[in-house]
Amino acid sequence: MDDRGPASYSNLDRPVQFLKGVGPKRAEALLSLGVTTARELLYHTPRRYDDASTVQPIGSLQVGMDATAVGRVRSKGVIPTRAGLRIFQAVLQDGTGMITVAWPGQPWLDRKIREGDTLLVTGPVRFFHGHQLQPREHTLLARGGDEAGREGTIFVTYPASEEVPQWVLRGIFQKNLDALLEWADEDEWLSPGALEALGLPKLSRALSLLHRPTVISDAGAGRRRLAYDELFFLQVVQAQARRLQAEAAPGVVHRRTNELIRPLHDALPFQLTGAQARVLREIYADMTSDRRMSRLLQGDVGSGKTVVALFAMLLAVEGGHQAALMAPTEILAEQHARKIGEMVVPLGVEVELLSARLTGAARRAAVERVRTGEAKMVVGTHALIQDAVSFHALGLVVVDEQHRFGVRQRMALSEAGGGGADVLVMSATPIPRSLALAMYGDLDLSVLDELPPGRTPVRTSLRRPDQREDAYRFVEEEVAAGHQVYVVYPLVGESEKVDLLAATEEHERLRSQVFPHRRVGLLHGQLASEEKDRVMRVFLAGDVDVLVATTVIEVGVDVPNASVMLIEHAERFGLSQLHQLRGRVGRGAAESHCILISEPGEEAAERLKVFTETNDGFAVARADLRIRGQGDLLGAQQHGTPVFRFADLLEDEDLLVRAQADARSLVERDPALAAPEHAALRAHLGARYRERLEMFGVG
Ligand code: ADP
Ligand code: MG
Repeated sequence: MDDRGPASYSNLDRPVQFLKGVGPKRAEALLSLGVTTARELLYHTPRRYDDASTVQPIGSLQVGMDATAVGRVRSKGVIPTRAGLRIFQAVLQDGTGMITVAWPGQPWLDRKIREGDTLLVTGPVRFFHGHQLQPREHTLLARGGDEAGREGTIFVTYPASEEVPQWVLRGIFQKNLDALLEWADEDEWLSPGALEALGLPKLSRALSLLHRPTVISDAGAGRRRLAYDELFFLQVVQAQARRLQAEAAPGVVHRRTNELIRPLHDALPFQLTGAQARVLREIYADMTSDRRMSRLLQGDVGSGKTVVALFAMLLAVEGGHQAALMAPTEILAEQHARKIGEMVVPLGVEVELLSARLTGAARRAAVERVRTGEAKMVVGTHALIQDAVSFHALGLVVVDEQHRFGVRQRMALSEAGGGGADVLVMSATPIPRSLALAMYGDLDLSVLDELPPGRTPVRTSLRRPDQREDAYRFVEEEVAAGHQVYVVYPLVGESEKVDLLAATEEHERLRSQVFPHRRVGLLHGQLASEEKDRVMRVFLAGDVDVLVATTVIEVGVDVPNASVMLIEHAERFGLSQLHQLRGRVGRGAAESHCILISEPGEEAAERLKVFTETNDGFAVARADLRIRGQGDLLGAQQHGTPVFRFADLLEDEDLLVRAQADARSLVERDPALAAPEHAALRAHLGARYRERLEMFGVG
């Protein structure tokens, strides 16, 4: 609110209390819906639409139909049955006839529904002392003698509450909607030209379509406009954050000589995939420009991100800069240093590993090599940023595993070199493009959507708990053939109510009873991180056959000899988590298997079925978005409100791409949105959005 001057105070900022038919008491009740101002009321849009043409005349209802009907309550009452069940019944009447509507076990409805009320009911028509409708859902459209409020041919249903029932809301809208819509024009921030180009209705029209659609598709058109607004506002804030980063320091202009890039190309035992080549072009273009790179590189496990990062690092080095790679754990940093070293040491480039295991004089010497610039490629964990390591000329920072590092950490590392270093963030957790655009709108996005050829896909199967013995037999065969196996559990330690097999107890059982002649290890989240590292190292060295673990193994350690991933209580895991786990096998030459053990309920069954049918991480991610919903994925649960009320990340990818382009070009032209024609937009971006945007770390 404080963002806007008194001159920009709009009618929609009025407290809802002063609207017709509201008053202090209802204003207080409206708090239960999060509505305090006229604007919030106007944006309180229906959640459901019923087409009146699908509403059946009561006289035409037949047994066996699934019917939607509207009628007035003629009489009502609670009827006890011999079984002790109390049934609320009402007789509904329209111009064509009457029907009994029955709600078994809901006698309390007798206090809610009155004679003369108008009801919308949906449910099956049964035969019970004549025709009887048993509603799955009902809506109180109007109280007593009020008009049913049937604007046009569509019945709308609002999100209502105990304090503000449906019919009250509908009454308030009936009295105020015209005025509210008129005031909405003061909020309009898009020019008629822009609206036309976008093919979207103006704000007041969009809201009118949502509240009073003539046909159901009207509501969809209105929704799209509000969705665009939401996406655009978010992208504006992210574009501002992006600009701030770019302005903090001029970007390093990398000079491409091909001195190192060419020999690496020649030395690689394979051809880059089309996706790798495309992504590298994007990265090279960023790096050789004076604009600072902030890029997210997404790719499924095994899509070849490391090779891409390596080329980017070589570009930095051949142009005379240093490149740093930051990994989430010590063991991953070591793995990277080893793999990268194998490829670049032959080219005459030394790789410096700055790990916590490096101490004393050796550490001081390494830090010194980084400071003087002798060390060209530096690999480490976040210790890289914590220990005030200073670089001679840091030109590129690669951050592995996005979700472990916050925005601030990656910025901090980039500042370590005096600022201006390009930043490439790699993530092995595929997320749908739209979700990536929404969550990381301040970054540019590169996607490796193609796997190198010749991979043997991991075979995934679903087994019931009573088939566990078969699974163990299979595990035994694989171990006998010289392979290693992961067994993953969702929890550690018995939780009181949930009857889950806990990793610690199962470890004991597997070790002493199932595989007594095999080496069985245990890894769980409550171990100290050095201990986790130690267990992982032992497994990597091949000194453990079966590793019992909780999901701490999710993040990328490569054990090529591991060929089976057995997941207990698979229904307890989210889809992308399962996919991450599956990515731990299939990294070597042998055919690999992912075995899910589960007795899934209906909801989980769908998830697990999707999972067994595809190895494509992006397909898994889209299914996850569809099944779990975007609120969950955006991590908005703790706020209690979804980040987007109107935008749908599955439907609106086109709008999101558009919104990002529009927002970025706007922020280029007018970074502070100071121009008079941006006043309405600036007001919008005030109190209403700031809080939600905090969570993106760009507030
Ligand atoms: P990611 O980091 O995305 O999980 P990596 O970069 O570790 O994937 O690559 C996985 C494996 O595939 C490595 O052994 C790598 O050498 C190999 N690889 C990478 N790119 C290709 C390619 N274009 N063709 C064949 N193999 C490749
Ligand atoms: Mg650059």
